Amino acid sequence: PARTRFAPSPTGDLHIGGLRTALFSYLLAKRTGGQFLVRIEDTDQKRLVAGAEERLLENLEWVGLQWDEGPKAGGPYGPYKQSERNDIYQQHANELLNAGSAYRCFCTPQARTQGSAKFVLSGCSQNCSSLSSEESQDRAFDNKQPFTVKIQRAKPDPKRVYPDLIYGKIQPLKQNVAANLSDGDDEVSVSVADVILMKSDGTPTYHFANVVDDHLMKITHVIRGSEWMASTPLHYDLYSAFGWQPPLFAHVGLLVDENKAKLSKRSAHLALDVRNMRAEHDVLPETLVNFLALLGWSNPTRNDVFDMQGLIEHFDLKLTKGNTMVKFDKLWFLQKQHVARRCEKVRSTGDRSSLASLVDRIVEEVVLRFPQVKERFPEDEKLRDYCEDILLADGKMFQTVKQFVERNRYFFSSERRTDPEYLDGTRLTRNVDIVLSVLVHAAEREGLFGRGGPMDSNSIEKKHRLHAEVMRYLRQGLCNGLPGPSIGIVMAILGHREVLRRLQIEPK
Ligand code: GLU
Repeated sequence: PARTRFAPSPTGDLHIGGLRTALFSYLLAKRTGGQFLVRIEDTDQKRLVAGAEERLLENLEWVGLQWDEGPKAGGPYGPYKQSERNDIYQQHANELLNAGSAYRCFCTPQARTQGSAKFVLSGCSQNCSSLSSEESQDRAFDNKQPFTVKIQRAKPDPKRVYPDLIYGKIQPLKQNVAANLSDGDDEVSVSVADVILMKSDGTPTYHFANVVDDHLMKITHVIRGSEWMASTPLHYDLYSAFGWQPPLFAHVGLLVDENKAKLSKRSAHLALDVRNMRAEHDVLPETLVNFLALLGWSNPTRNDVFDMQGLIEHFDLKLTKGNTMVKFDKLWFLQKQHVARRCEKVRSTGDRSSLASLVDRIVEEVVLRFPQVKERFPEDEKLRDYCEDILLADGKMFQTVKQFVERNRYFFSSERRTDPEYLDGTRLTRNVDIVLSVLVHAAEREGLFGRGGPMDSNSIEKKHRLHAEVMRYLRQGLCNGLPGPSIGIVMAILGHREVLRRLQIEPK
């Protein structure tokens, strides 16, 4: 069984790239009967964003990545928030100092970032690593000189490679050069340097806290973004400095847009943080999970519509090396599939709760766009039922609330098209007129209108074997000629009175 973790830094909103690595970690744990942990990596207090942690956790819960151990859930290896674990890091830094695998550096720090790799490199002009332990302690404790703790690294062996479950192997460079990550390379070059483990304020750096925690929390598989590949040799060195067995690493390529550029915050006119995909685009959690799982995973089945359970059954670590191009058409395809599944569930169980929040959003949008709808539906409950019926009838075409209401606008307004060509086509001949009138009155007698009406097989069309010409007239008269659910279903939803009104038939 794998123990995996998602270790977000609460420095902003959860982005789909981060959610994807979290999902892979979750799926591997569940697939193998193991545990999935969440650990908050908030050592860099300067970069924290207020409220980000709560939103992160809330979004993880919303998509269904419930963690077995972590914030709120607790667990045997807590606390699961790095800012509450400082004693643990101190203690482990002392262990390395005592063993001579780390040293105090009294040089003025000049932290800098190289390229995309988040190294804290600082020149050590005074050769601090060769200070005797007495002198080092005197300067630190008697003279209260500020210091950082740095790892004492052996001269790197340029031929050494580090295993990776996806890339095969990672190879370091000899010099302190920034990471050079290229698309799909088998061998990825990374830098080597004496790196700070504890900052002069007594708090750990990302690398140190991350390694200590992964070990203490008994993580077996680290799945993370390929931007961390450059740090892996350092992490191996830390494991060996402690004499610990390192976990298995799986670095996952980045998500890129169709121009192979890293996905920016608003690629493809979509806000790519989870919160906005939810709030602005009404993406269902199961749509998002399904979409992200397919990005870079060589799905072994022929089917690609999965719910979480299906993913757990089939997931493996067969992930593509290098970056993955994101195509949003797939998101909308999956959204339709998952809304249709929810509709099917409501129809077969009668439990309407899984559509409730979508229906609320639809009602909201309808009232905003078509305020006159209130005249037809003075009671809120009736309008809600009406919208629910429309969703049940046309859910397989649902993408977003806006798109759905636009597509089904003729249900809410009977404003007629006035272009002459269209009007010519809709002018009813005397005969069709009579047929329609007879038909609509018959349908009413047979109870085919209203809720629980002909939602599926027993539709008005089938019942009355409607002629194509009559159907066309009905669609023009009732739906303004727009595509949508079958005409029998449209009639049932609109109701007898509204059908008569739109077709200008005298009530009996
Ligand atoms: N806190 C790191 C991040 O935000 C975690 C990286 C890792 O998974 O090791 O990306």
